[in-house]
Amino acid sequence: MTDRIKALRAQIDEINLQLLDLLNRRATIASEIGKVQAELGSQFYDPQREAEMLTALQMANKGPFSNDTIKALFKEIFKASLALEEKEARQKIIVQRKTPDQQTVITFPDGTKVGDGSFQIIAGACAIESYEQMDAVGEVLASEGVKIMRGMAYKPRSSPYDFQGLGEEGLKIARQVANKYGMLVVTEIMDMSQIPMMSDYVDIFWVGARNMQNSFLLKALGKVKQPVILKRHFSATLKELLYSAEYIASGGNTQIIFIERGIRTFNEETRNTLDIGAVPLLKMESHLPVIVDISHSAGRRDLAIPFGRIAKASGADGLMVEVHPNPPVAMSDAKQQLYFDQFRALMRAIKDVPTPMELDAVKE
Ligand code: PEP
Ligand code: MN
Repeated sequence: MTDRIKALRAQIDEINLQLLDLLNRRATIASEIGKVQAELGSQFYDPQREAEMLTALQMANKGPFSNDTIKALFKEIFKASLALEEKEARQKIIVQRKTPDQQTVITFPDGTKVGDGSFQIIAGACAIESYEQMDAVGEVLASEGVKIMRGMAYKPRSSPYDFQGLGEEGLKIARQVANKYGMLVVTEIMDMSQIPMMSDYVDIFWVGARNMQNSFLLKALGKVKQPVILKRHFSATLKELLYSAEYIASGGNTQIIFIERGIRTFNEETRNTLDIGAVPLLKMESHLPVIVDISHSAGRRDLAIPFGRIAKASGADGLMVEVHPNPPVAMSDAKQQLYFDQFRALMRAIKDVPTPMELDAVKE
């Protein structure tokens, strides 16, 4: 190498270091702006500001780089700054995964856990109809080792003339049955005004699909001591679901479980379309447990076993299924609630399905 090239390269090396320093100084300032924008709740990407900067740069450009080259180079710098601002903003979101092994595990006073790698079954009637019905359901669930019983006393029905639930009387029944068989009770809350009354009866609050974006209810649940199961609305994106969980978490309650219940599509064979891909996607994005509703997604009994197997294989932390002593006469969701024998068959069928974690452990 000639001395001349060596000298020129030394100059380039020096300029590279200066550019590096300038780029990082620029990134620090951009990130400061990002913080202020995040506080104001404004968008990070400002196309008008970007266009103004490009025009100013092109007017100041004396070459030898062409205006197009300058534009392309600076656009890359803008893109990198924007990515940095967005990354920093995501770090602040409580429900957002921060590290690959971060995992929220919800532990109940009786030792039951959700999110610890076990596959929890949440089962029970669609709606509480009577003590006899719930007692019969409770007995079967307990004999199959179920720890979390669903019992809905307020039903968000499509028609106001359909059965709306037994209300507080129903909650009393659910509590009594759960105590008899040593189970926890989860029930759907419709409105924040119900929190004080329901707190006396339930171990877990359940936000139904229709209330997923009721931000006032979500904020109020940020203050309760019980964990919250948050259902995805049938037309909500996963980002919207994550933000709904953030409403609860930002209030102080980070004990949240997601439940995928199927989305609305053109498909007529099932009540909704089970979006099973939501399970690994939610797990990538968040550290919160995810369970799968195999009843409302399918809307039919005959899919319980395949959907149950799919749920377990997907890496979900559990499933939710409806069970009734005499499904055809159930006051709600008669087509999808399982007969007791079908529920027992489901428990047998999923027993040997390995979770992705178990498969990975075998490989290692
Ligand atoms: C339910 O699980 O009881 C229910 C009403 O389902 P969804 O909110 O998903 O419609
Ligand atoms: Mn139901």
